[in-house]
Amino acid sequence: MRIILIGAPGAGKGTQAATIKAKYPIAHISTGDMLRANVKEGTELGKLAKSYMDAGKLVPDQVIIDMMEERLKENDCIAGFMLDGFPRTLPQAEALGRLLDKLGMKLDAAVELEIEDEVVVNRLTSRRVCKACGEIYNTMLKPAKVEGVCDKCGGEVIQRDDDKEEVIRKRLAVFHEQTSPIVDYYGSQGVLLKIDASGAKDAVLNLLESKGIR
Ligand code: AMP
Repeated sequence: MRIILIGAPGAGKGTQAATIKAKYPIAHISTGDMLRANVKEGTELGKLAKSYMDAGKLVPDQVIIDMMEERLKENDCIAGFMLDGFPRTLPQAEALGRLLDKLGMKLDAAVELEIEDEVVVNRLTSRRVCKACGEIYNTMLKPAKVEGVCDKCGGEVIQRDDDKEEVIRKRLAVFHEQTSPIVDYYGSQGVLLKIDASGAKDAVLNLLESKGIR
């Protein structure tokens, strides 16, 4: 299975990816996670990406395309992959198309997780994450037992800089301007599946399976 998850920040791409990954042994590739790992390690890529990320802007296309070209050549992608947060612009989608042709791979589906902006703002301003292990919390739905301390590993639980409200609104605007066009692009290629992302967690998996993607 080779799929792309498209959705506004906070639409639940990471959560849905975890559900799919639990059932299918395919690589889960999140460009946001890859960039954050680079920021944490202080690599050149991380230093470059951080200023864009903190401002809620997209990292330049060529930087992301080069990073993904390397990633998709890794062995774990042979069995299939799920791209979470890439492509995010039309040039990235076109570059991915060329890259897959080169690798002799075909995309099975581009899944669009549809959600309203205000639902996203509510979800993301209450999201918290463990700095050490990445466990996700929510101040309303799933708070850490001790505020600021991870239940799992004892690490520090923080709010991501890009989960602050003004940054979220900027990220939503960027999504509508720059990422929405790829929905039509995949629609015209006949691989687009739309789903209501305000629904239950297993909805994506059920939809994919009902369309014969497995
Ligand atoms: P995410 O965790 O997917 O919301 O990504 C966090 C941030 O990383 C985004 O707001 C962008 O600054 C950057 N980023 C992630 N994926 C991409 C991409 N495909 N193109 C450009 N920037 C990206």
